[in-house]
Amino acid sequence: MKTNNKKLAVALTLMAAFTFNASAEDTPKENSAFVVHKLSDNLYAIGEPTYYQANYSYLIVGNDKALMLDAGANQKEDISKIVKSITQKPVSVLPSHLHFDHIGGLHNFDSIYLLDTEFTRQFKQKDGLYHVPESVYLGNFDKFVLEPFKVSRLVKPNDVIDLGGVELKLLGTPGHTQDEVALYDEKNNVLLSGDHLYPSSLFVGNMKDYVDSVSATLKVINKDTAIYGAHAGTDPKQVPKMTYEEIVLIRDKMQAAQDKSAKPEAVPSSDLVKNANLYNVDDQVTILSDIEFKDGRKYGY
Ligand SMILES: [Zn+2]
Repeated sequence: MKTNNKKLAVALTLMAAFTFNASAEDTPKENSAFVVHKLSDNLYAIGEPTYYQANYSYLIVGNDKALMLDAGANQKEDISKIVKSITQKPVSVLPSHLHFDHIGGLHNFDSIYLLDTEFTRQFKQKDGLYHVPESVYLGNFDKFVLEPFKVSRLVKPNDVIDLGGVELKLLGTPGHTQDEVALYDEKNNVLLSGDHLYPSSLFVGNMKDYVDSVSATLKVINKDTAIYGAHAGTDPKQVPKMTYEEIVLIRDKMQAAQDKSAKPEAVPSSDLVKNANLYNVDDQVTILSDIEFKDGRKYGY
């Protein structure tokens, strides 16, 4: 989840949605909400540049099977069809966390993985399905209702998802939400960071958890790690890539916010947020804490 203050930019990108973008790396379908970027032989970003939160989901393809990190926000188009156009291997989807903008297409996948913690386990009911309340997935913002779903595999923090030739370690990264996760591919030195880290306004659900998680992430990654987040920065058409140095700046600013040595600024009005404490990190990244949404709900845990 992120907020976007640039209404004009959004309007312009909505208009741009109807033009065909034919760069060498991308394989867009005309009029589709989704744009595919091939990042390497086994990694694809599937962006939604015209969506107000500019979400990016990631497809990782191994020798045996494939995994989607996030299912996109779009509820009208079937994101799994885009996936099938890239790989014929069996695909599972793992939400980076259970916010509406990451699970819009969850129902299009036969196999759903989920983080295994006390927080997520509470949603399993007698019918064996996971019933997540709206207060967790916040679907009202997009008039989205999450149907109960079946989980094929529960994944614990530090478990490895083996796709055949590609191994992804699941990192529990609470702070944005309790169930936030990231995936680390050590061999290829890639971190898929979901809403834990992306180059835009970061929504803090719990500052202490967030600082601890970013500190832990910095011990896992290194200066050469390719870090890809779930929301674009100022250009919604650009895959949200970050640097190690940027993560250090985020950790330092969060630390300063936590110990009150940094003073928050007033937050400008945006799609989602009425009030928040805002801390600037660089020209793209801000940190929002103590958030009150436009609908009056407080955000945090
Ligand atoms: Zn979120």
